Amino acid sequence: MKRIKDVFDHQERTYSFELFPPKTDKGYENLLKTIAQLCALSPDYISCTYGAGGGNREKTFDVVQHIEEQHHVIGMAHLTCVLNTRDDIKTIVEDIKSRGIRNILALRGDPPQDQPDWQPTDDNYKYSSELAAFIRANFGDYFGIAVAGFPEGHILCPDRERDAEFLKLKIEAGADFVITQLYFDNKDYFEYIDRLRRIGVDVRVIPGILPITDYGALQRFCSLCGATVTDEVKTIFEPIQDDKEATVRAGVEFAIRQCKELLDGGAPGIHFYCLNKVHPTDEILKAVR
Ligand SMILES: Cc1cc2nc3c(=O)[nH]c(=O)nc-3n(C[C@H](O)[C@H](O)[C@H](O)COP(=O)(O)OP(=O)(O)OC[C@H]3O[C@@H](n4cnc5c(N)ncnc54)[C@H](O)[C@@H]3O)c2cc1C
Repeated sequence: MKRIKDVFDHQERTYSFELFPPKTDKGYENLLKTIAQLCALSPDYISCTYGAGGGNREKTFDVVQHIEEQHHVIGMAHLTCVLNTRDDIKTIVEDIKSRGIRNILALRGDPPQDQPDWQPTDDNYKYSSELAAFIRANFGDYFGIAVAGFPEGHILCPDRERDAEFLKLKIEAGADFVITQLYFDNKDYFEYIDRLRRIGVDVRVIPGILPITDYGALQRFCSLCGATVTDEVKTIFEPIQDDKEATVRAGVEFAIRQCKELLDGGAPGIHFYCLNKVHPTDEILKAVR
């Protein structure tokens, strides 16, 4: 399978999905059906999270391998350095390579809820830039490497200029492109691009878009990751939060508007946080592609 950066050579835009590994066998069986439906939408690649929210770490690579081998769609494995020692990381990246996977989203991750005070030691990589540097130094150009970007600044680094400098370190460490955290005000994305270009970061920065389907869940998620629930989102979704159907409908309209404005403004594609569901991402993708 190709690296995602090879797709960039002949495509101005990419459309991709993000999945997470389910915790149960039944959930996994259901995900395989969802993957078949998502692959039928011809995405440029599909990524799968690693350990997010205490998720099943081992299954990440099974999911990505399944996507590539059964559906011939490019996969990308997320990998976090939190909890893993440097030796663990070496073994894991060798495992990823042995499965034929050629794309890694290199992340730091967050300490899990049951170990909130976990701190890295000299045996761990502290930042995602160190992880990206390790992969590049030890595996050459075999892997395409993506990293996370934060248009509103990272929750632990709200100083946007400083956070942009840290992003620059990730690119200098060997990352090829960036996928952003979800956000709802495109102004944050366009200002982020200006900030990055000013300091010499010229790689693709692909917006991560979450279709809103549940306002309560959205508020909980945003409070964890630091994304702002904008006044516009509050005005649209608060009054209809108990009406599931109306929320999904409004979420589709909102996401289509957000994606179209991004693409018109020069964004190099969209990465959808589809939360292991086909709908409503399928409808949004159809409208914006
Ligand atoms: C697209 C995307 C996918 C994600 N997938 C997952 C996933 O699969 N699993 C999961 O657990 N989490 C995932 N996350 C969440 C992510 O792990 C968290 O946001 C985490 O807190 C930061 O990860 P990072 O890779 O950006 O860390 P880093 O780049 O290491 O940054 C972490 C913090 O340290 C600061 N920093 C960076 N470098 C330095 C430095 N050299 N000196 C001082 N400070 C520095 C940054 O500003 C930031 O505040 C994802 C996030 C995004 C946007």
